[in-house]
Amino acid sequence: MAERVMSPIEREVGEVFERVRGIGGGKLASYIPELGKADEEAFGLAVCTADGFTAGLGDADQEFTIQSISKPFVYGLALATHGREDVDAYIDVEPSGEAYNELSVHPESGRPLNAMINAGAIAASSLVPGRTVEERIDAVVSLLSSYAGRQLELDQGVLDSETQSSYRNRAIAYMLRAHDMIACDPDEALAVYLAQCAVKVTCEDLAAMGAVLANGGVQPRTGEPILEPDVLRRMLSVMATCGMYDGAGNWLTDVGMPAKSGVSGGIMGVLPGQLAVAVFSPMLNDHGNSVRGVAAFTELSREFGLHIFDRP
Ligand code: GLN
Repeated sequence: MAERVMSPIEREVGEVFERVRGIGGGKLASYIPELGKADEEAFGLAVCTADGFTAGLGDADQEFTIQSISKPFVYGLALATHGREDVDAYIDVEPSGEAYNELSVHPESGRPLNAMINAGAIAASSLVPGRTVEERIDAVVSLLSSYAGRQLELDQGVLDSETQSSYRNRAIAYMLRAHDMIACDPDEALAVYLAQCAVKVTCEDLAAMGAVLANGGVQPRTGEPILEPDVLRRMLSVMATCGMYDGAGNWLTDVGMPAKSGVSGGIMGVLPGQLAVAVFSPMLNDHGNSVRGVAAFTELSREFGLHIFDRP
């Protein structure tokens, strides 16, 4: 069978992909037992332009759980549902400089510092609309599906595994309750949060989801308008300052794209007006960000001039 002819972009991205494939090191997120079973060598990369052209390499069509990359989307849902003032009463927009799972709230206001660390994300999950936990989980799965442009599903194995081992996140939810910084029962907010983390995506899905953010809030393939401009701007701002946790400063300096990582090894980065990139490789650095993911983004940003502050 004749091989498909690659576009120049696919060829150049392919060269970066091959170089980064050789990078080792890092460790699996085995604090969630099911994620400790991941294939250490899995490596996928996808690009989706703001007008919907997609290219995928390696394991770009392999499913993994979205984990914290769900956070900006759920934060956006909370903002769209309740408005900025009401959401700000629960969650600030300051980088924490701390690990993602820190039991962290502002010492005076009691507010979590941002919606990208677990404390702020669990507060955001408590603001998802719905009368029951099931309705709220459905709302999140259907939201993420609209971004991806296809129906997404939960990974029940990962969800059960994390639910059984999430002592720390439970402590965070109860700490928020003690500070009145959670809009519903803490166990219910936690159930929504853990379910949103367990939604299965591929790199191609994540690139499409990021392309919605690159394309002014409209899904480029389905044409569905998902986000108002003020909500989109906030999501991108918080991703730029807080999306890579205590690695956010180095990331913004070296890569220069609003981005979000997850402990299953995904990273989604957005260059507004242009494109989104997604990488999946499960071995993580000390900040909980994918080792090869950070390396791939650093090289792609340099080779293709993707840094937001390099734009003409
Ligand atoms: N579900 C994970 C947790 O709460 C998400 C963390 C992450 O992806 N950084 O620990």
